[in-house]
Amino acid sequence: MNKNSSNIMALVPNNSNKRETVCIFGTGDFGTSLGHKIIQSGYPVVFGSRSTEPSSLVPKDAEVLSHAEASQKAAIIIIAIQRQHYNFLTPLAEILHGKILVDISNNRKINQYPESNAEYLAQLVPGAKIVKAFNTVSAWALLSGMLDASQQVFVCGDDMEAKQKVMDIVRALGLNPLDKGSLLAAQEIENYPLQLFPMWKFPILLSLGLTAFFFFYCLIRDIIYPYVYEKEDFSFFIAISIPNRICPTLALILLALVYLPGVLAAIIQLYRGTKYRRFPVWLDKWMLCRKQLGLVALAFASLHVLYTLVIPIRSFVRWRIGNQIVSQALNNRTEPLNNTNAWLSDSYLALGILGFFLFVVLGITSLPSVSNTVNWREFRFVQSKLGYLTLILCTAHVLVYGGKRFLSPSSYRWYLPSTYMLSLIIPCIVLVVKFVLIFPCLEKPLTQIRQGWERNPQYPEQSNYIINKSAV
Ligand code: NAP
Repeated sequence: MNKNSSNIMALVPNNSNKRETVCIFGTGDFGTSLGHKIIQSGYPVVFGSRSTEPSSLVPKDAEVLSHAEASQKAAIIIIAIQRQHYNFLTPLAEILHGKILVDISNNRKINQYPESNAEYLAQLVPGAKIVKAFNTVSAWALLSGMLDASQQVFVCGDDMEAKQKVMDIVRALGLNPLDKGSLLAAQEIENYPLQLFPMWKFPILLSLGLTAFFFFYCLIRDIIYPYVYEKEDFSFFIAISIPNRICPTLALILLALVYLPGVLAAIIQLYRGTKYRRFPVWLDKWMLCRKQLGLVALAFASLHVLYTLVIPIRSFVRWRIGNQIVSQALNNRTEPLNNTNAWLSDSYLALGILGFFLFVVLGITSLPSVSNTVNWREFRFVQSKLGYLTLILCTAHVLVYGGKRFLSPSSYRWYLPSTYMLSLIIPCIVLVVKFVLIFPCLEKPLTQIRQGWERNPQYPEQSNYIINKSAV
């Protein structure tokens, strides 16, 4: 019997209910966990191992044979072995000719090797059909029933039929296969499990840096300054007052930083007169993590709301209010209601409430389950129009909070302005530039550039042709 006919035999089930045998090379953690799950799904499993003495981990319904013997019993062979040991496959190349080899391996580092493990396997066994799959599933998740793990299995390979067979096994295990195309996608799939919150790195590092900066800034202004000049100990401000200054400051700055790259991109496109040149890498990366920046900003805004709600029950606040009442009683004098202050205070609170409400709406619409239900225009309306409205409301909230205090000398301690003044710098820049960009003399050319118009076209004949056609 030639080797092709042995492959065909392996694919033909013994009876109508029986599924084809699956071979697994390697009786380690992953091989045995996957073996258990595949047997449960109704596939006979045979293991290929260096030792034919089965370990206690091997499912009892499975046979353990040498690699050569096991591979002859199946058309699909799952290689549950680390890449560095793959060279044992070279002498088996002839037996493995025409078989489907499933590469499930991962590396320790992103782009550890010049080629993906699956492509390396294809070089070692040129006659085999290589499929990459299962590498994003863990042995532990397989054993624990995949209840609290991702059900997604990324699959790629150059042979469509081989890929379909592997996807059938994935489905039989109760998992969801996602076809990522040819074997060229293997490197990307191998990098998935090694990524550590790639989009969150910049927002988290930035907010940690800003938090540290504003913490020391507030420490100098609110604790060290009164201690030096008034011998007052306000060190307890560290618990609530200072966090309640840092949180709104960061929320507003980070929200503005969500919209700043869009404004910068518009300026760059207007300056270059084309959209067909790449933005600088830093701007590209900044644009990609705007959602995460916005969500971190929302987290700070939520903390600000919580810190603000506890203000009336703070001992310091109750002591100060009590003192004011007693001093009014001792002086037999009541303060008349200041209507302007009442208006300012209520407006500031109302702007804050509305701003926070829209901020939450923005956060909710950025969730994949919600954003998948809206179309592109609706998503842009919420994220751009409502986003700018949120930025306007939150900036106005801080401006009204500042009110007359902007000009008061007591707001500047050691020439350092209050944190809320610093928090206004970036939002005001973003809003002013955005306002300028709305003027028709800038908005019109920008819209044309975004529709493909170029000031100095690279291919003049082609753009003339388009202009002539549109004129017709
Ligand atoms: P493991 O527990 O160390 O098992 C590896 C198996 O490879 C061994 O049990 C051994 O099986 C075989 N082996 C070791 N040295 C060999 C050599 N020199 N020649 C031939 N075979 C050799 O590792 P594992 O955790 O199962 O991982 C196996 C593969 O699955 C790796 O590529 C890993 O990246 C991938 N993976 C693992 C997980 C996971 O959660 N563990 C998740 C996704 C992907 P025999 O003794 O039977 O020969």
